[in-house]
Amino acid sequence: MKPWSAGLLEQVGTRRHLHLFLDFDGTLSPIAPTPDAAFLPDRARAVLERLVARPHTTVVIVSGRTVETLARKVPVPGVSYVGNHGMELIVDGEREEDSVATQARPAIARLGAALAQLVGTRPDVVLERKGISLCVHTRLVQDERAREALEAEVCAMAAAETTLESYRGKRIVEIRPRGARHKGDAILHVLRAAHGEDWDADCNALFVGDDVTDEDGFRALGGRGIGVRVTDGADVESAAGYEAKSVDDALGLLEALAGVRGSGKREALEERGT
Ligand SMILES: [Mg+2]
Repeated sequence: MKPWSAGLLEQVGTRRHLHLFLDFDGTLSPIAPTPDAAFLPDRARAVLERLVARPHTTVVIVSGRTVETLARKVPVPGVSYVGNHGMELIVDGEREEDSVATQARPAIARLGAALAQLVGTRPDVVLERKGISLCVHTRLVQDERAREALEAEVCAMAAAETTLESYRGKRIVEIRPRGARHKGDAILHVLRAAHGEDWDADCNALFVGDDVTDEDGFRALGGRGIGVRVTDGADVESAAGYEAKSVDDALGLLEALAGVRGSGKREALEERGT
């Protein structure tokens, strides 16, 4: 990955339209001690408002959170939302849900109820029920073997539901409908709906994200769009072509983009630092 300052702005402005896809946690907002505590910094809100007002520019927030939570956390008029890692969208005010996810709702509800029985009274485990997905947070379980056993039990319970799949992250177990849209699928879905199959003829697409699930988005864009991974200085493997070192660095990129004029003119650098 190259630092975004080396050449990214040259690529943007070569097409009429700019479609920006932005992750929330760790990209627009610093990672908070608990999911509820995360908020949109004033600097991020200001630049999103400028980007939405820019001609031929679309801004989409892409996250594992639900679209309702995103709309509450990022209340910027004109912004669209992709939630639940790609399974649900609010675009131009219209809510849409992946049909694979919809069909799995009863299985998610069943497993959610069973997991609530298992961990509902434990103060050290958080069960997040997100409608079409589930998330078990085990960060607070002190004993390593107890956490291992609990996560294994959760995965075994999920495996009993054939329409669902589970995966283990950092002290977290995520459960989602098998074969449902991921972030990359959702990004391509939005681009095709707005610009057709040859979306890149008319549109520069850019995705900024910081986590493993964002790699689906970078891979989906491939050489047709631009990926930026927020690394916090860590040495990570990524399908993104560019790197932002921190949330502040990513916001600096967005401020520079807000200064890039539409319709093929590139005047970004004039406005940098203002
Ligand atoms: Mg993130």
